[in-house]
Amino acid sequence: MIARVTLEIALRREFDYLVPSELEGQVEVGTRVKVPFGPRQVMGVVTAVVDESPHTNLRAIAKVIGRQSLVTPKVLQLARWIGEYYCCAPETALKSVLPEAVRKEQEGWRERLVVRLLQIHGEMPKLTKRQQDLWNIIEEWREIPLQKLIELAGTTGDTVRRLEDKGLIVIENQISERDPYEHENILPTEKLVLNVEQTTALAAINGALDKLNEEGRTKNAEGKADTFLLHGVTGSGKTEVYLQALAHTLEQGKGAIVLVPEISLTPQTVERFKARFSSGKCQTLVAVLHSHLSSGERHDEWHKIRQGRARIVIGARSAIFAPVEPLGLIIVDEEHEYSYKQEESPRYHARDVAVYRGQKEGAVVVLGSATPSMESYYNVKRGKYQLLEMPTRADDKQMPVVRVIDMRSEAKKEKGIPVFSNRLKEAMHQRLEKKEQTILFLNRRGYSSSLQCPKCGYVAECPNCSVSLTYHRRAQELRCHTCGHFAPAPVRCPNNECRDPAIRYAGLGTERVEETLVKLFPKAVIRRMDSDTLKRKEDYRTILGEFRRGKIDILVGTQMIAKGLHFPNVTLVGIIHADLGLHMPDFRAGERTFQLLTQVSGRAGRGDVEGEVVVQAFTPFHPAIQYARRHDYVGFYEQEIEFREQLKYPPLTRVALLTMKGRNEDKVKFSADHLRNELEKRLKGWPDLVIAGPAAAPLARAETFYRYQIMLRTRAMSKLSKILAEMLMAQEWPDDVTVATDIDPVDLI
Ligand code: ADP
Ligand code: ZN
Repeated sequence: MIARVTLEIALRREFDYLVPSELEGQVEVGTRVKVPFGPRQVMGVVTAVVDESPHTNLRAIAKVIGRQSLVTPKVLQLARWIGEYYCCAPETALKSVLPEAVRKEQEGWRERLVVRLLQIHGEMPKLTKRQQDLWNIIEEWREIPLQKLIELAGTTGDTVRRLEDKGLIVIENQISERDPYEHENILPTEKLVLNVEQTTALAAINGALDKLNEEGRTKNAEGKADTFLLHGVTGSGKTEVYLQALAHTLEQGKGAIVLVPEISLTPQTVERFKARFSSGKCQTLVAVLHSHLSSGERHDEWHKIRQGRARIVIGARSAIFAPVEPLGLIIVDEEHEYSYKQEESPRYHARDVAVYRGQKEGAVVVLGSATPSMESYYNVKRGKYQLLEMPTRADDKQMPVVRVIDMRSEAKKEKGIPVFSNRLKEAMHQRLEKKEQTILFLNRRGYSSSLQCPKCGYVAECPNCSVSLTYHRRAQELRCHTCGHFAPAPVRCPNNECRDPAIRYAGLGTERVEETLVKLFPKAVIRRMDSDTLKRKEDYRTILGEFRRGKIDILVGTQMIAKGLHFPNVTLVGIIHADLGLHMPDFRAGERTFQLLTQVSGRAGRGDVEGEVVVQAFTPFHPAIQYARRHDYVGFYEQEIEFREQLKYPPLTRVALLTMKGRNEDKVKFSADHLRNELEKRLKGWPDLVIAGPAAAPLARAETFYRYQIMLRTRAMSKLSKILAEMLMAQEWPDDVTVATDIDPVDLI
């Protein structure tokens, strides 16, 4: 028997090893193994078991790690596809399907010593006073962790062992599962009675689940699984539909994966899922996967899934690789979120992987959003996905009133650009009087966006990056938000020929909004939430907790506060500089702004009082702002798709972005020109191919590296990415030039 193994050291190929007879039966596809490689031993994963090898003199597998293989053959196939489609080495793809905590040899179950009472036959032996005290405690508990016993009794391990010697107790090893939610007290919940829209959506999803189940049973498993786009406004009750579809999946004896963006994976969200499946006939463990788990916790969650004890997995991006089997349903909530895309190799998009996995494994996929991505809605239009719509709020509350304020005319009136319009000031004042809460949103931290000299025009730029530095007033520093560079804020123009003391700070950030508020409303409790004020991961929870309990009147923040938060007492949302993102050099600038405004507006008026949203903008008539104001997604889509069509941008095509980086600009530029020539030669005659560039990237220099880009667009990306992988691997680059390939990029900087 021969095993084909992918090694963890990056080699971009697989190697054959003999399976020694004593290990036969333990080696299957997905088994982790240690194998000799040169003079060392390295870790790897078995990707196939074969009878013959084209190679001779095979060496033997040295060791099998772990009792159960951790990737199922299906997940392994998924890794292979990711490697191919996203142009990365197979071992890089494998690394993301198998998190490190599960891969490492050292990480195992946490075992702890437990003291257990034994049945006493015959007479009770004589005990000393200390032993007797100890015995009394154990008798009461019957079973108690050794560590806890020692603490309770104020004794030592030796004294406990004395009792073991007398045959009264036994001290044994027990696996103790790490449960990141063990301190939460979760009360079970019952299904809600659905409204008409929810009922229709659920019936469609359950119907698709039933159809697959029937086909599976009759072995007619052609496996054409349905993908749904659930377009439901914030508060329309999408989560309740997910919960009931999950219950149906469990009833069919299948498992499910629920993806949510990392930022909305709050204890509240997790609790809603855990609570529903904590008891009753659909009882199951709900495994949770996210980046703040310790590696031990991650290990345990993974094994609960692999062993089939946790049949529902809820998690961020990488949870799409969870070894759920059989898989019946995949839900991707907030499917438009850009955080589903991994920004390092493998640069996969978890939503797209979900759709692919659903097709391969015959699982129904539900993509949910209040503002679907252009890609997904386009897929509805061309019949790839089925559309389910929930246009009204489940609680029958009104959508908030959105007012757009033209800041150009405010600036004219005030002879300068004010932080707040009169309308917003007045609205905040009213909320404070009524003891209602306000959220203010501005997607830029710091005090001002740039430092400018009015006399000579000097702008403070980062020495390492092609971006201007942001002024942070409290720290009296200029900081680069790209590389972290910082320097003391100057008191005069740093240009030696000028030295003018009238340097000016242009633009504004959250710090300045906060400062202005404090002056305006000295009695109000105001908190700011951005990555400058949140130093530790608990800070996020603490501030939100205070806000929920009504301890804070006005919360100011960046996009951190835009998503998935429910606060019934918030009746006013202010969006400062709503068009900040519109001028980015990215064809998705309009889409992003529309999504952000809609999501932020959704935070207002979730309680009994109607909400109000005040949007301050310098280009108030931009379609992204106007359609968001009218809560008109389809209107936005229709005009946006026209623009994408004209320019042949996604979703009409797919993009591959090649970014070349290096410290020597000429070398980078030269390599990029060379690559363009090679691409033209190799791809000559490709019918719908557009090659643009090389050109300096929008972020032309970052962390001292110069950056050049080539963008390719075609409809046939699977075909193109294969060729790109081949070409880029064969290509020799100067030592200090690297190329990054991003297929379907969401960020063009
Ligand atoms: P979404 O996920 O679409 O933003 P949620 O699922 O969070 O919406 O639902 C919003 C609110 O409406 C929640 O408080 C939820 O409990 C409530 N809700 C949802 N469905 C129903 C229903 N059928 N009957 C009553 N309340 C509901
Ligand atoms: Zn920098």
